[in-house]
Amino acid sequence: ATIANPGELAERLIEDEVEVLSANGAPAAEKTFVFYNPPVVNRALGIRRSYINESSRVAQEFLKHDLQTMVFANSRLHTEILLTYLQQANPHFPGTPETIRGYRGGYLPHERREIERGLREGRIRGVVSTSALELGIDVGSLDATVMAGYPGTIAATGQRAGRAGRRSGSSCAVMVASSAPLDQFIVRHPDYFFGNTPEHAFIQPDNLEILINHLKCAAFELPIAPEDRFGEVDVQDLCARLAEAGYLHRAGEHYHWTQQAYPADTVSLRSVTSDNFLIIDVTGQPEVIGEVDFPSALTTVHEKAIYLHGGEQYHVEHLDFKERKAYVKRVDVDYYTDAVRYTQVRVLEVADQARASEARPEIPAAKTHGDVLVRSQVVGFKKIKFFTNENVGSGKLELPENEMHTTSYWLTLERALVESLPFSISERQSGMFGLLHAMESVATLLLMCDGRDLGTAIGERPPAPGAQAEAFLPASMKEASIEDGIGATSKEIFEPNLYLFDAYPGGIGFSEPLYRTHELLLAKTRELIAGCGCESGCPSCVGPAGDLAPRAKEAALAILGKVCG
Ligand SMILES: [Zn+2]
Repeated sequence: ATIANPGELAERLIEDEVEVLSANGAPAAEKTFVFYNPPVVNRALGIRRSYINESSRVAQEFLKHDLQTMVFANSRLHTEILLTYLQQANPHFPGTPETIRGYRGGYLPHERREIERGLREGRIRGVVSTSALELGIDVGSLDATVMAGYPGTIAATGQRAGRAGRRSGSSCAVMVASSAPLDQFIVRHPDYFFGNTPEHAFIQPDNLEILINHLKCAAFELPIAPEDRFGEVDVQDLCARLAEAGYLHRAGEHYHWTQQAYPADTVSLRSVTSDNFLIIDVTGQPEVIGEVDFPSALTTVHEKAIYLHGGEQYHVEHLDFKERKAYVKRVDVDYYTDAVRYTQVRVLEVADQARASEARPEIPAAKTHGDVLVRSQVVGFKKIKFFTNENVGSGKLELPENEMHTTSYWLTLERALVESLPFSISERQSGMFGLLHAMESVATLLLMCDGRDLGTAIGERPPAPGAQAEAFLPASMKEASIEDGIGATSKEIFEPNLYLFDAYPGGIGFSEPLYRTHELLLAKTRELIAGCGCESGCPSCVGPAGDLAPRAKEAALAILGKVCG
């Protein structure tokens, strides 16, 4: 099983008893599992050799020995960057097909089928993929897998490693650790990985957004009768609302599906929202080359972006929001683009609130969890050079905001606490961003969730829940410090809320557990930062030193010292 609690999960989903079959029939030949930590090249700044470059180097070793290799990256951007590196290292003869391919969401179905076939038949010798090839799709077994960065969960690591392994002959799986605290924890404590059962699947079957989609699908199959049950939920009330919105029609006692569209088309098993953009190559005759979902469109196909697809570079000429189309032209440049996003959180409703320290309620800090509105906006982009990762330029953008209603846990530092910190304004702010960076990593570990399941933001505590929030704040200090006038902010925060929010609309149930384990979360965060061997902050504790004020690590520890008492 790839999750720890399949029985419990299924029982919550169908609200009935289930029996778990847990025998593993997969073949087992010898397999080597390597955890590789790239060496430190600058001890003071805690900088390691780039894990992307190192993953490329390891994969290249396998490919050189004609071993069919699958490389996993943790984002679409990294997938394309690794693909670019590996294709350059393995040039194919003109007129013959590419032997190193990319694979991710957003490629067209026929392109994906062709790659899957090529892998099964052995024509394709190397593939770089996102989690898209982790599960389900039959591509046969390969000789080696390389993971560029910890996949986020034990379950996903097991699945990725499982792609290598022939019935006979040995195979190898390599995990190349990034500098992120979670990666560093895993690579130093392999027993955590090998000794721990895979994560518990968290699910909130009563998440309204998910529930409504299920209800639409159910109505499409059969009219909904008054006696139909869906757990504890008031089905009749929801049907009445869907009827008002024009999705259902009431005839007698029953609700019928009225729309032309097939509702399951808009329901994804992995992500909760859907609203895709088509990507059209207009270099020659216009041709659709891929698609991208709404949130990713804002960061990957904004105007002037370099869109990477199958190792090719395309310049985005125009993004048509209304028609949901991005027009791109093929180019040959030595950089890619990375979007700069500002995130703002507004508190909608407080579910529970208490002093940060139960034993010492006089400490000027509080903990809360509840409903929030997360608004994010892409405000610019950076141009980053391949191989060296140098920042070679930037630009401003004005794109629509993306809004999401979700749940959050947050820590409030009250004015008295902030003012008692013996640091400059920018050092205090860096300390807060650094602290939140470390808290996020620790929260991921405590919840055994994927790092991408949580989002972070810092904002001024509003006078009252629901009050008009202030201007956008950068998602991290890194983005605040971007020069060239991309909305650089030096605005002082007097009473900050440090938010750790569920990164899915409606929330998937992480906020309340974080609220409950708040003291453990802070104690472990303190251990992480204090125990880090760097001098003044590094990617493995409070974030890269270059992105923060010089005394950020010290400031983060000072804040923790005050909050914990
Ligand atoms: Zn450090």
